[in-house]
Amino acid sequence: MQPLSDRQQQIYELLQTRQRISTVEIQDHFEISSATASRDIHALVLAGAAIKASRGVKLAPPVDSALPEKKCPYCGGMLKERTVFIIQMEDGRQQSVCCCHCGLMALEQTGVRTALACDFLYGRMINASQALYLLGSSVNLCCGPTVLAFANEEEAQHFQLGFGGSVYPMEAAIQELKKLMKL
Ligand SMILES: [Zn+2]
Ligand SMILES: [Zn+2]
Repeated sequence: MQPLSDRQQQIYELLQTRQRISTVEIQDHFEISSATASRDIHALVLAGAAIKASRGVKLAPPVDSALPEKKCPYCGGMLKERTVFIIQMEDGRQQSVCCCHCGLMALEQTGVRTALACDFLYGRMINASQALYLLGSSVNLCCGPTVLAFANEEEAQHFQLGFGGSVYPMEAAIQELKKLMKL
């Protein structure tokens, strides 16, 4: 991508106050030819600063909304900080999935080195193989049946008292989840 010229930056500044500007206005304002104005518009569009409008340009939407949202490769749901589950593959790749439900299912693939689950109470990342999982509670944050991770058994059981479900260590949680999914 080419850096914007001074004039192109000035056009961009105009756009920020006016939202939209026509090619003719750019010509008049900067006393340039229509070909030059068109080139400047083209450069701004290429830079992602503006989008084409009829007979001119308008301000591009903020970068955030233009970026694709991060999605879970298993269910297509949005990744959420609160429930994210991160899998480290033996080849160095890292996979982030939406929650422990997709995470436990994803652990069944080959080539998994380690995984981190997000402790539901404190939001810390914990070793997935040492976490305890509460399956089928009434908390519906992401995929059903809900799977929540806890750093220790006591906390998981406290939570279970209020919200139901059953507590399992990782391997048993995977087996149980597979059973529930077949129902
Ligand atoms: Zn998912
Ligand atoms: Zn999920």
